[in-house]
Amino acid sequence: MGKTVAELQTIVTELGMPRFTARQISQWLHQKGATTFDEMTNISKNHRQRLADNYTCGRSTYIERQESADGTVKYLFPTIDGKAVETVYIPEGDRATLCVSSQVGCKMNCMFCHTGKQGFQGNLGVADILNQIYSVEHAERLTNIVFMGQGEPLDNYDAVMAAIGIITGEEGWAWSPRRITVSTVGLRRNLERFLRDSECHLAVSLHFPIHELRGQYMPAERQMPIADVIETLRRYDWSHQRRLSMEYTMFDGINDTTLMAKEVVKLLRGLDCRVNLIRYHSVPGVPLADTPLERMTAFRDYLTRHGIFTTIRTSRGQDIDAACGLLNSKSRTTTDS
Ligand code: SF4
Repeated sequence: MGKTVAELQTIVTELGMPRFTARQISQWLHQKGATTFDEMTNISKNHRQRLADNYTCGRSTYIERQESADGTVKYLFPTIDGKAVETVYIPEGDRATLCVSSQVGCKMNCMFCHTGKQGFQGNLGVADILNQIYSVEHAERLTNIVFMGQGEPLDNYDAVMAAIGIITGEEGWAWSPRRITVSTVGLRRNLERFLRDSECHLAVSLHFPIHELRGQYMPAERQMPIADVIETLRRYDWSHQRRLSMEYTMFDGINDTTLMAKEVVKLLRGLDCRVNLIRYHSVPGVPLADTPLERMTAFRDYLTRHGIFTTIRTSRGQDIDAACGLLNSKSRTTTDS
């Protein structure tokens, strides 16, 4: 499932089949929802058997499913190499957003994030990423995909971009890249590649507008300071319906003061972006608390008055640990089930 048509052509040729079989396989996997070679009835029985003897389709059903009181559903999917990742389905009116993971755990080690606490267990392959999208219930209802689950998407750049290439390609779902958002803490080389090579929306995990403070909570700041991230973004033209947003999780008494609001305004001045304020969900062992709603509202109003479009993001799925920053699949493997 993680192969492009060109890669499938090499495979079928090696197996002694006509090249057009590659396109048939691709259509079955990505458009007709086939989970086994046996379902691919326009391919001869003999060839289907040869495929099954040498390959698997890459589809797996979830190991676990938890549903929140607000309708959010968290899935635990097995990976091809025996690990597990979480994926969150968020229905909202006529929209349905899927929050997809890109790695098992994460190397970035943001202090306030439960995934960061899990450490890094490995990159997901293209098929692992696509399986999260194809194998949720009601995949046909999805309107948006956000790479905001476990992991730093730009740290698994090739697999994430290949998965997006299939989803947006004619052989896949032919989705507009404007229905996909990739989030990042800001990784120097791959941020520039992403801006150049992709048309998807971008969400930057800002959280702290000052270098020293951001460095205390987000070690990635030492590799690429937020000022450099913003400078890189300024060089790019955001006027073609490609959306740039800044994610800002609010911590009581740390980054929710008027002084911090002023720093955010200073940092983002003139950049065409929106700010999403996110409530912090407490993570075991982390001495941080969430900002009261009145202060979040005051912060939003300050930014809005200073010309920055700002919203307070509704928190979803907190009762099943599916909300922002709570995903964690440590010690979960496919053998748990
Ligand atoms: S917030 Fe994102 S980048 Fe930071 S540790 Fe968590 S998953 Fe990784």
